Amino acid sequence: MHLQKVGKCKHMKHIMKPDLKGRILVVDDEPSNVELIAGVFENVHDVQFALSGRKALELAASNPPDVILLDILLPEMDGYQILEHLKNDQHTADIPVIFITSLGDTEAETRGLEAGARDYITKPINSSVLKVRVKNQMELKRSRDQLARMAHSDGLTGLANRNRFYEILKQEHARHMRSGKLMGIIMLDIDYFKLFNDTYGHVQGDECLRRVAEAIASGLQRSTDLAARYGGEEFACILPEVTSQEGIFKVAQRIQQNVSDLQILHAQSEVSDHVTISQGLVITCCTADTTLEYLVSLADQELYRAKQQGRNRICMTMNNDC
Ligand code: GH3
Ligand code: MG
Ligand code: MG
Repeated sequence: MHLQKVGKCKHMKHIMKPDLKGRILVVDDEPSNVELIAGVFENVHDVQFALSGRKALELAASNPPDVILLDILLPEMDGYQILEHLKNDQHTADIPVIFITSLGDTEAETRGLEAGARDYITKPINSSVLKVRVKNQMELKRSRDQLARMAHSDGLTGLANRNRFYEILKQEHARHMRSGKLMGIIMLDIDYFKLFNDTYGHVQGDECLRRVAEAIASGLQRSTDLAARYGGEEFACILPEVTSQEGIFKVAQRIQQNVSDLQILHAQSEVSDHVTISQGLVITCCTADTTLEYLVSLADQELYRAKQQGRNRICMTMNNDC
């Protein structure tokens, strides 16, 4: 199966922007403590609060804060248990937690720090000490986030890099194994790009890569879709929870059209007077037998077919093992 074109859309996805103000989640069953802490950080950080462990975990998972200030003595679930839950969930495991507690003995403090809290403050709360300790954790968190962003993204285009692509593919593969839903993968390559570089030079080549990357990202519409630079002038997309072959094919057509709409002059191309791409698509189930490498190779074979059939087109297959 192969065809072509259509569409237009939004901006870059999966590029985390630093939250400049910083958000704190305060977990304390005593409203007056929450008020006091909220007062300390007024106009400095956004403060959210939870009066119970259950609520705290809900908030932390749905919109992870930058720092959690956690009381230990709470009804139902105590601070140690909340911390354990946070550590066991990959979405919340890295959020710095500072215990703020009336338990002043070294045994409680040791236990808290050993459980993974980054800091430990005893009540009564001293505002200046609290401010400095939160500031320290915020700064550490920012540096860590920045390092993670750099490790995950491609420097030239800002898209996810190849490592990140495989990391997300692995997570999505596991998720699709549980749900039984279908996943789509696109491998995509710029046509006659060596000739483009030879004609217009590497600086223009880099600019072309950046613009094509943006056109690809714009073609994806769901927040769970991922666009990555796979290497050189090759890109890859993950499209989770595909509901129909037509649906995923439309995404590819939109990308094809977005790149064409850039109208980047390519006088030496044998298929057009401007830059074009070829795409290989696979729709697949996810099982213990479908390794990540195998799935990528299926999309790659389709890309190869698109090139063989004349470039500037999309070839698609359904994984026959499904
Ligand atoms: P095809 O249509 O078969 O894909 O041919 P092609 O010329 O696009 O493919 P080929 O693999 O022969 O050449 C890829 C070119 O991409 C060669 C390389 O110089 C260029 N390239 C790879 N990475 C970069 C980059 O980061 N910047 C620039 N400017 N060029 C790059
Ligand atoms: Mg190429
Ligand atoms: Mg190539």
